[in-house]
Amino acid sequence: MSADGPGHYDVLVIGAGFSGLYALHRLRGLGLRTLVLEKAGEVGGTWAVNRYPGARCDIESIEYSYSFSEEIQQEWVWTETMPAQPEIESYANFVADRLDLRGDIALHTEVIAMTFDEPSSQWRVRTRCGQTFVAPFVVAASGILSVPLEPDIAGMDTFAGTSLFTGRWPRDGVDLGGQRVAVIGTGSTGVQLIPVVARDAAELVVFQRSPAFTLPWRVRPFEPGELDGLKAGYAEIRAAQRAHPVGAARLSAFSVLLEMLARPPIKSATPQERSRAVEEHGVLGALNWGDVFFDIEANRMATELYGEAIARIVDDPDTAAALVPSHPFACKRPIIDQGYYETFNRDNVTLVDLRRGGIEAVTPTGIDTEQGAFEVDVIVYATGFDAMTGALSRIDIRGRDGVALRDVWADEGPVSYLGLQVAGFPNLFTVQGPGSPAAATNFIAALEHHVEWIGDCVSSLRAQGYRTIEALPSAQEEWIEHTTSLVAPTVLVHPTCNSWYNGGNVPGKKRMYMGYTAGLPEYRRRCEEIAAGGYTGFKLS
Ligand code: NAP
Repeated sequence: MSADGPGHYDVLVIGAGFSGLYALHRLRGLGLRTLVLEKAGEVGGTWAVNRYPGARCDIESIEYSYSFSEEIQQEWVWTETMPAQPEIESYANFVADRLDLRGDIALHTEVIAMTFDEPSSQWRVRTRCGQTFVAPFVVAASGILSVPLEPDIAGMDTFAGTSLFTGRWPRDGVDLGGQRVAVIGTGSTGVQLIPVVARDAAELVVFQRSPAFTLPWRVRPFEPGELDGLKAGYAEIRAAQRAHPVGAARLSAFSVLLEMLARPPIKSATPQERSRAVEEHGVLGALNWGDVFFDIEANRMATELYGEAIARIVDDPDTAAALVPSHPFACKRPIIDQGYYETFNRDNVTLVDLRRGGIEAVTPTGIDTEQGAFEVDVIVYATGFDAMTGALSRIDIRGRDGVALRDVWADEGPVSYLGLQVAGFPNLFTVQGPGSPAAATNFIAALEHHVEWIGDCVSSLRAQGYRTIEALPSAQEEWIEHTTSLVAPTVLVHPTCNSWYNGGNVPGKKRMYMGYTAGLPEYRRRCEEIAAGGYTGFKLS
């Protein structure tokens, strides 16, 4: 590791996931002595630990990948249209080796506290093992979905069988053959996991608190020569991505939603047109109307149609009815699946709709609910994440006057300027912080822009002799007003929607929509304008 004193660097990066790997490469390339601190024993971040069966990205591999290196995008070989977890993890390792990053990554190094020392304008960063690192700049590349949310269910630790958490699945896998398995949670993770577990396990009991809206999707291996053809046109693919609001121009979970916006309203469709939409296009046809994002009544009408579409797939009418969501469509992140509803026609699968009676406790032999007891050998918790702010709230981060970041977010909600900085925390950059487009975009496309903006910013400050940059409270306030005004007319903020997008999935977390929905090109334009204007909204000193 390159250092001019014990633990002194120009920039410290927290996390060696996709953001941290690129941040290291970029900052090093700018001549900055950079060290990445990673709590895990491997690179890859969220994609290295979410190893549950069925884990897969819902954006196409050729777009869910770094665009900054022509060599990497030409050399790496994707085997499927949408990549599965093992391939994404291998890709992260390939990039780490190809760019010779490992020498500047400290693994098993968990940051637990950091303090901004005002006289020296330096961050002092402490790790669980007691090391201290010092640098003027810190880049938090700690992930938006990196802190699993374990539910607070009585008796969880009394279970005598195997408890598994999708967010930290055992590296060597788990043989579920012949076992009675419970899955708690039916978000993106549960919807991916459930069809695969159903095939492996003797019995599967799905505990569903909120049914999902999910659209069927075909993932397939590339045909011979297909990937080479795509790679030959990579310049056009990347250009189209850059121009696209979600940073992914090909079909993805996000682009389906965007296309819906241009569709005619359900409210002016005739009953025959609505029925035909379901007959011809199933669950997608049920939801494919332009007014569902803005008009809660239209959304309810579409949900009713959605129920009809489910009933055409799921044989048992009770089970089909139990799979119909009660929250508005599109207020949670879109989900795509492979054979989710068909899974409930299997003899070995039981659905427990917790809206009819919730979980009371986990017992040594299984799960007790208000509807009865279920004996199982394995419980899988697919219960989500403390998203966006979770990772940094777990570090004791002290900015100016000793103020703690976790207190600011607890009191004011997940505030930030551009999702890049929080007022009162100079020289601390957040990659994909709250208020940035991350949540509603292709994360890799979004992180590349953030890393590049941060690198240019640090270089420019140093070239001009500035020591600190910090978001102005007024600019932060205006940004939050702007981001929240964008979603105000949509179902994204409907009170019945508890989503990680708005913090409603975490008990006690202050609710605020945490994304930027005007799209990546507009966001990039604003960030470039701010930089070109001498970092408007930031104080430089
Ligand atoms: P999630 O969408 O927040 O879903 C968590 C599920 O657990 C929900 O169904 C939730 O119910 C349930 N749950 C939580 N606590 C519970 C409790 N005490 N009792 C019963 N049920 C409980 O989390 P996720 O599925 O892990 O997905 C999070 C995000 O990760 C996704 O939105 C996506 O961005 C990303 N992800 C992406 C992919 C992909 O690329 N395809 C795959 C997996 C994850 P409620 O809804 O009622 O709270």
